Amino acid sequence: MIRLIKPFTEYSEVESDFKEIFKSGWFSKGNYNKKFVKDLSSYLDVKYCHLATSATTALWASLKMMGIGEGDKVLVSDYSFPASVNVIEDVGATPVFVDVDLGTYNMDASDLEAKISEDVKAVMFVDTFGNPSGLKEVKEICESHRIPLIEDAACAIGSRYQEKKCGSIADVTCFSFHPRKLLTTGEGGAITTDNEEYNDWLSVKLQHGASQGVNGLEFRTYGYNFRMTELQAAMGIAQLPKLDEVILYRIGQYSIYKKALEPLGFRCQALRDSCYSNRQSAVFTVPEGISRDGLIQGLRAKGVESTIGTYSQSNEPYYLKKYKKGQPNALYLYRNSISLPCYQGLDVEPVISAILELT
Ligand SMILES: *Cc1c(COP(=O)(O)O)cnc(C)c1O
Repeated sequence: MIRLIKPFTEYSEVESDFKEIFKSGWFSKGNYNKKFVKDLSSYLDVKYCHLATSATTALWASLKMMGIGEGDKVLVSDYSFPASVNVIEDVGATPVFVDVDLGTYNMDASDLEAKISEDVKAVMFVDTFGNPSGLKEVKEICESHRIPLIEDAACAIGSRYQEKKCGSIADVTCFSFHPRKLLTTGEGGAITTDNEEYNDWLSVKLQHGASQGVNGLEFRTYGYNFRMTELQAAMGIAQLPKLDEVILYRIGQYSIYKKALEPLGFRCQALRDSCYSNRQSAVFTVPEGISRDGLIQGLRAKGVESTIGTYSQSNEPYYLKKYKKGQPNALYLYRNSISLPCYQGLDVEPVISAILELT
């Protein structure tokens, strides 16, 4: 079976660090966490970076940090993994689904403008499959309305909007280190910002609400613990130096797929505004008249694993029942996009041959 994804990491790259951590008994809040924060901040060119247990907890904390809750609305790209909307729902705010562009799969700026109102307290832009196209236009709209912009960059580590890396553009950016992403710590995430007030909030709130007092820790507020372990941080440190190579490999695989599949009527995820996508997932929209589900099943029968692109969040049973607001483009992509195998060392030719036989 040709698998859909395979993390690009090996035990040998962390073995000596793991030994060190076990020997010292220092499993949390140590030098590996410090170093991973430092390395990530410099790779992303951001002022502040905080590690977290996942992109989901990072996004949740971002909403809390902005004081978002009951009575507030948050605009969110509809075409995404439902972790994006779940955190909005969980803090008690009302998610407002913004439809996406059929080319880039990202938040549609005119639909966003049309949905802005007094009670909108944040916009959550998703870099779908690592592609930040359209981010700047959304940022400008947010700035003109004085609404903070949260970037769900769970997929977008190493992607760039023109010369700036994702992480240094929005008011707050959240990353994921889940095994499905390009850099993995098993589970894990990060929040980046250049905003000092946000940094102050995160520094205290993500450490149980504790500040350094004269006689040790003092709890001037309450807080949470979303810390990553030292073992996880060691994994992140080991993978970061090879991230750019991983990305180039994906881009190469994506372009082989593109060249073979576009003549058959498949459409690739468009890049605009001189964006650089890490091409985290090789997602294509199937040609008219071809059943996406049929293709996934056919590929499976030929020993190739594939899956859907991602979800139309508003169309998932919980949200559809509660808000009854479907978004046509997101729904189209949910029904017609396919994610193909894409990872270091994979030969994509057998996948292409299998598709040729099935279409
Ligand atoms: C993977 C993903 C998440 C969730 O990330 P976790 O680290 O697993 O919580 C959120 N949003 C998007 C767009 C994702 O792709």
